[in-house]
Amino acid sequence: MSHTAQTDKTIKPAPEAILRPGDYPKNWKKVSRRVRFKRARGFCERCKKPHGAMIWSGPLGSWMGEDYQWHDDRGALIDRPPPWPSKQWYRNLWHCGEPPKLRWVKVILHAAHLNHNPADCHFSNLMALCQSCHVRYDVPLHKWTRGVNADLARGQRVLFA
Ligand SMILES: [Zn+2]
Repeated sequence: MSHTAQTDKTIKPAPEAILRPGDYPKNWKKVSRRVRFKRARGFCERCKKPHGAMIWSGPLGSWMGEDYQWHDDRGALIDRPPPWPSKQWYRNLWHCGEPPKLRWVKVILHAAHLNHNPADCHFSNLMALCQSCHVRYDVPLHKWTRGVNADLARGQRVLFA
């Protein structure tokens, strides 16, 4: 319960805002394409990765492009990637048996809904984000959903114990 209370402060999605694919408007593909390729010109609007490119993905959203330049999570040039956060380092070691590594990935741009409501396709509510920025942006929502699910699971256990 405390988990939900904690995350409630960071985000309060309307109940209807969560995962209702039917709410995407009919012209969604067109709108999405316009945001990603016309407004953003094919670059992530947060970290500046180019759509379709192969890149090295590093700690804290850092990345190296085909020009061998490292960028931080906002696209600014940096000399080298930052160290892995120790929490992530240990979590990876615990779950995968090895420390986190750089990953060679293809950049895919998404049109992300800033208020998490797929029915709200106003340009100001949309942002062209690569897959890693999209996941990072949605973390508070995922935490919130996990909190609710955990509460439900707890409730069920209590109910059927
Ligand atoms: Zn990005």
